[in-house]
Amino acid sequence: MARQPLVAGNWKMNGRQAFATDLLAGLAEKALAGVEVVICPPFPYLGAVTGAAGHLKAGAQNVARTEDGAFTGEVSAQMLADCGCQYVIIGHSERRALFAEDDDCVADKYQRAQDAGLTPILCLGETLEEREGGDTEAVIARQLDAVLARHGAASLARAVIAYEPVWAIGTGKTASPEQAQAVHAFIRERVAGQDHVVAEGLRILYGGSVKADNAASLFGAPDIDGGLIGGASLDIASFAAICEAAAN
Ligand code: PEP
Repeated sequence: MARQPLVAGNWKMNGRQAFATDLLAGLAEKALAGVEVVICPPFPYLGAVTGAAGHLKAGAQNVARTEDGAFTGEVSAQMLADCGCQYVIIGHSERRALFAEDDDCVADKYQRAQDAGLTPILCLGETLEEREGGDTEAVIARQLDAVLARHGAASLARAVIAYEPVWAIGTGKTASPEQAQAVHAFIRERVAGQDHVVAEGLRILYGGSVKADNAASLFGAPDIDGGLIGGASLDIASFAAICEAAAN
């Protein structure tokens, strides 16, 4: 069964109301057929996405690891679902590094998202030091197994994985299609070790300095099913070109 390509734009902590309105109006004019497109703005602008033209889906950049309650400043998975959000990014390297989210926290958030009917976009990735030390597969396996051990491979039928080498995020350094493909194949094989049907249907996105001019070569690799896009998702023409590259 062919996997439908998916491109998710992670605005991080960027944008304003007017930017959101302009960008969403610009994207609404594009056909963007043959690719699922998810926009992950900061929380205050999620409503602009859920209210936008039909083919754009809304994703959050973060979610609380707990259910509703006395957790000032947090946003629960149930709230996100209630607002029409369908996806949530979990385990992004910026959350892991800057907000001390460990594998256990990531597994908690994954569960909250799924319990609320959201699709987690589970990010995995090694640092430059880990890659140069030959530890890429060990790091990816540890991050993946933290979720598999708690929730099982079957849960990945309702999830998306994003391979995001930390050294490629926001640095302008992109993994080569060969480097990315090798890790994507490793992830798929590891999942297949538990459930080969789920592994075959699992969408594995690549993230890390994807731009309009390198998207096609990355997305041409057999185990790369789209992208998680940071910087280039803030520009209509670039993001639309990346979506078109995924569709093709
Ligand atoms: C990201 O933050 O998920 C990301 C991939 O960023 P960039 O595309 O800017 O490297």
